[in-house]
Amino acid sequence: MCAIFGIAGADEAANLTYLGLHALQHRGQEGAGIVSTEGTKPFIHKDRGLVGDIFNSEVISKLKGHTAIGHNRYSTTGGNTSENIQPFVMKGSLGWIGIVHNGNLTNAETLTKQLEKEGSIFQSTSDTEVVLHLIAKSQKRDLREALVQALKQVDGAYSLLVLNSSFLVAVRDPRGFRPLVLGYKEGKPVFASESTAFDLIGAQYEREIAPGEMMVVSLSENNSISSFFPFANTAPKRCVFEQVYFARPDSFVFNSTVYQTRKNLGKQLAKEQPAPNADMVIPVPDSGVYAAIGYSEAAKIPFEMGIIRSHYIGRTFIEPRQSIRDFGVKLKLNPVSEVIRGKSLVVIDDSLVRGTTSKKLIAHLREAGARAIHLRISAPPTTHPCFYGVDTPTTAELLAATNCVEKIRSFVGADSLGYLSLEGLLTVASEKSGDGFCHACFSGDYPCPTSN
Ligand code: AMP
Repeated sequence: MCAIFGIAGADEAANLTYLGLHALQHRGQEGAGIVSTEGTKPFIHKDRGLVGDIFNSEVISKLKGHTAIGHNRYSTTGGNTSENIQPFVMKGSLGWIGIVHNGNLTNAETLTKQLEKEGSIFQSTSDTEVVLHLIAKSQKRDLREALVQALKQVDGAYSLLVLNSSFLVAVRDPRGFRPLVLGYKEGKPVFASESTAFDLIGAQYEREIAPGEMMVVSLSENNSISSFFPFANTAPKRCVFEQVYFARPDSFVFNSTVYQTRKNLGKQLAKEQPAPNADMVIPVPDSGVYAAIGYSEAAKIPFEMGIIRSHYIGRTFIEPRQSIRDFGVKLKLNPVSEVIRGKSLVVIDDSLVRGTTSKKLIAHLREAGARAIHLRISAPPTTHPCFYGVDTPTTAELLAATNCVEKIRSFVGADSLGYLSLEGLLTVASEKSGDGFCHACFSGDYPCPTSN
């Protein structure tokens, strides 16, 4: 998963992009970058690490111009190396072009091999670079047309921002796997993966970019916007995992407030998987909090913060000794024994992937005196890997790919385990957003071919 942000025609475009990326940090923490322009050449800065560490006022002051795009990276293809950090900027017959991408292209490997045979030289192992090479090979003399021609050859998930000296283009793949929203800051168009970026910079949310929609901002025509639907009509397949886990709870994604959706998932979970006689509902923070509030409300069982999360975990907590690594979950999540001692708990998390978090957490809750632990998950079992931009492990590592609920319960050491049904998830998710979700990670129902 990644984050993208772009703004056209604004004073302090790079500064606003920096702030936008900051608000979207949860979508990717490996690296970040910004490319800006004052209408002729590009100014670029990118590096590994967190947004707040990469940019400072001196760096930002060198990113000149009124238009900028930026990216936070979370590697799902291509690995965590510095050459894969975006934006990518390339020079060709159309001049320079910068690109940022959220999603995974499912036919990138085939296209890369084909392009390499034809002479293209790739500088990264990221699927995004394929789009730039396809644009470079296009005979079209205009970025908009070349981009459409390039995108008609790719398949999979893409929310993209593309910038050159004349245009800022925002485009979402026809299935709309990943989110992309439009807002305005003092009349200037702003694009972001999630609306929370608009809140921070004081921009007004306008609407979602529709699946298959391309919006072109003409930098030389007072940043006027036009909208096109250049691709064949396809049923939308928005990623339901955005609602379950990925998006920030204060974002408005796919036309619904993530906080409210997660709370409603918790209410539905309480209906489907009750835990009678439990003393309290406790979330696995932070992602389990909103579903736990809903569960507690619906089940009329008191809500308590029985686990406290440390917000100071370095991403680089690398410890060679297993004995020290085992502290990992405790370092992040610590039970409050005074709250939970002797109590029967309903513990709510949003998803169970490899089961390592739950297994260790349950052991710590027992050590801290919990009498009984009823684990409830506000999503169905994660049975299949994602090929459209979420970093899920291989089938072999996915606990629910090969184990039934009872086996998983026994592995994690809970007294009972209950998941939300797929029907329940989709009913809640479509209340405000309408139908049309990708739920392949829970069903194996892949909307487009997954291999190259
Ligand atoms: P696991 O320990 O592998 O079962 O991971 C489950 C925990 O990871 C849950 O608390 C989730 O909130 C979180 N999680 C689920 N999917 C992802 C993901 N794609 N990236 C990062 N964290 C995730």
